[in-house]
Amino acid sequence: MSTPNTDDPAVYKTLLESTKAIPWKIDWKTMTFAYIGPQIEALLGWSQDSWVSAQDWAARMHPDDQARVVDFCVAQSRSGNDHEADYRALTKDGQYIWIRDVVHVVRDAAGEVKSLIGFMFDISERKKNEEQLLKLQKELEELSFKDGLTGVANRRMFDSVLSVEWATAQRHSSPLSLIMCDIDYFKQYNDHYGHLQGDECLKRVARLLASGAVRARDFLARFGGEEFVLILPNTDAESAQVVAHRCRELVLQEQIPHANSPGGRILSLSMGVGTMVPTHQDQAMAFVGQVDQRLYQAKLRGRDCVVNGG
Ligand code: GH3
Ligand code: MG
Ligand code: MG
Repeated sequence: MSTPNTDDPAVYKTLLESTKAIPWKIDWKTMTFAYIGPQIEALLGWSQDSWVSAQDWAARMHPDDQARVVDFCVAQSRSGNDHEADYRALTKDGQYIWIRDVVHVVRDAAGEVKSLIGFMFDISERKKNEEQLLKLQKELEELSFKDGLTGVANRRMFDSVLSVEWATAQRHSSPLSLIMCDIDYFKQYNDHYGHLQGDECLKRVARLLASGAVRARDFLARFGGEEFVLILPNTDAESAQVVAHRCRELVLQEQIPHANSPGGRILSLSMGVGTMVPTHQDQAMAFVGQVDQRLYQAKLRGRDCVVNGG
């Protein structure tokens, strides 16, 4: 095997111009391109000799990347640090391609920056994969906090939100209200109309309850099977009572037929309501238990009613 003659610049030129990475050199003083590989035209469409100044490089970059990348590269170069930057490069036909620029700073004997030498890599495939992964991750996060049937928050999300709102109420000594709702005779509903229509009914009730709580921080979750819970931050007992009755009315007005109900002929809810200004001694779960007891009282009182603390 023959060793290439490393004194021959043509060898380097051939090597540089046959790689996928695109080599370039910028003269620091004049901020002009001393060289850029001909591969640039195949990648971005701009001809080799259209790359004259560093300005051309900055201008052929996505507007959202320009300031960040140019400022970073100039600062790093000034300090003599090798560096790399990812950005979207503009193609001649108006598309963007993700590029990673890897930059080496060349200094003269006195330590002054003389030139920048770098390679541009096409990383669009990798970026596309990263974006897809991020999207999937976000979807997964959403799924793990959302109830699959009704689309409202699930029990896990309820626990997180309650602990945040509980701590906030403790800090500000503000009232926090909770409403627990349970559909009356839902077992009979399923028995009569079938499970699929039962599912549709749950979705409808979730929508109605969501429309009944109107403040920005009001929060609805599916607590379990046919039970829903509302967290009403910064809400006193009187206002919570208003919300509970509004929600109950919304469902009654909808007149969802429930032919097999031992109660009336339409679907109804039972509710427990509680309000508390929690101190640092109070436990959120004990409060949930108390409100759940009131819901149980509402069932004992014949259903289709609201039980509060008063
Ligand atoms: P009560 O008035 O005392 O609340 O009676 P109930 O029949 O509503 O109460 P129970 O807790 O005995 O039954 C709840 C029913 O809710 C039983 C279960 O089949 C139904 N259920 C729970 N989750 C779902 C669901 O996701 N879809 C459907 N269709 N039904 C469900
Ligand atoms: Mg029920
Ligand atoms: Mg129940």
